[in-house]
Amino acid sequence: MKKAYQFRIYPNKNQEVKLNRTLSTCRHLYNNSLAERKRESELNELERTFGVTPWGKPQWINYYDQANYLSGSKTDFQKEVHSQVLQNTLKRVDRSFKNFYNGFGYPRFQGRDRYNSFTFPQKGFELKDGKLSLSKIGNINIILHREIEGSIKTCTIKKDIDQWYVTFSCEIDIPIIPVEIHTKTGIDVGLKALLTMSNGTQIQPPKFLRESEDKLTQEQRRLSRKKLRSHNRNNQRIVVAKVHRRIRNQRRDFAHKTSRMLVEEYDHIVFEDLQVQNMVKNHHLAKSISDVGWSQLINFTKSKAEYAGKIVELVNPRNTSQNCSGCGNTVQKDLSVRIHNCPFCGLVLDRDHNAAINIENKSMYTVGTTEINACQGTQRSIDAAGSSPPFRGE
Ligand SMILES: [Zn+2]
Repeated sequence: MKKAYQFRIYPNKNQEVKLNRTLSTCRHLYNNSLAERKRESELNELERTFGVTPWGKPQWINYYDQANYLSGSKTDFQKEVHSQVLQNTLKRVDRSFKNFYNGFGYPRFQGRDRYNSFTFPQKGFELKDGKLSLSKIGNINIILHREIEGSIKTCTIKKDIDQWYVTFSCEIDIPIIPVEIHTKTGIDVGLKALLTMSNGTQIQPPKFLRESEDKLTQEQRRLSRKKLRSHNRNNQRIVVAKVHRRIRNQRRDFAHKTSRMLVEEYDHIVFEDLQVQNMVKNHHLAKSISDVGWSQLINFTKSKAEYAGKIVELVNPRNTSQNCSGCGNTVQKDLSVRIHNCPFCGLVLDRDHNAAINIENKSMYTVGTTEINACQGTQRSIDAAGSSPPFRGE
């Protein structure tokens, strides 16, 4: 089982210069390698479509070609960076192409603000005497606020405006003991960042999250009033980025707290499959910012449940808000109708409560069955920062 741990690190001035330089060397390598592969694939396209080969026969370049070439032709800057960190950068280029072939966007060149992390995939880092020792960079102060379980596989360093973080991705070798399922709940996640359980309980996100979001709107408006390319504008850009960071942290804390509560209280938790939901519901709604928060909550719940031998199930959200949870008949209502009022069986319920019950009922398994064990422990765990393409940020 995989688990990711993130800690803040406190580099001194000298180390920070080296970290920044490493980041920039990796970013240049990333962009150059990307350009090389783009060019080759465009030449291939040219040959395929028009049968012309203006600069000789093109070849397909893959990760190994680029890694081989790199090892024999390092620049002075690249020599200052651990070789596996450079290789990992090439791996990221490779992954962005693989993602593209799997239907994601075309790989993008990375600006200074976007490219914010580099990874030691195996070696070059060590935790000793309460410091994080990084090859070619130094021994950096770190506060290990929680114990690391399992063995550390990769180490990713990330810059977040003016702060630095390290993420360790660990492999934990403990047997997962499936618990017997006694308690179960369905969960409806609302647009207004409200969560409703099938017993009718609702959880509101904390008020300060709302306040930060208002603050963001305010600061963004300020940014738009600043003159292009002015010094003031740049300062304001940093202010906005910091509010973004605060919201991200608050949202993550909320997701951790809520998922912990859910997994402590329930053995089997049923959510709507948001990926399917986005296709079902209209685009305007799907773009809601709450989506980001919800997939994070679901992922956190999955990994905590996995750890505890419990189950998280995702069901198709079709008709969960329209059907009556009492009799199963369809009761059409648009978003403004907050109360489910069934003319067939007389059931009157809060709209989201009704949906949560439907979600629970859609679950494929019933309380007390044993065959569910087959799917336990197969859910994937937290996404380590280092394993996602760099252009996604988090
Ligand atoms: Zn009914």
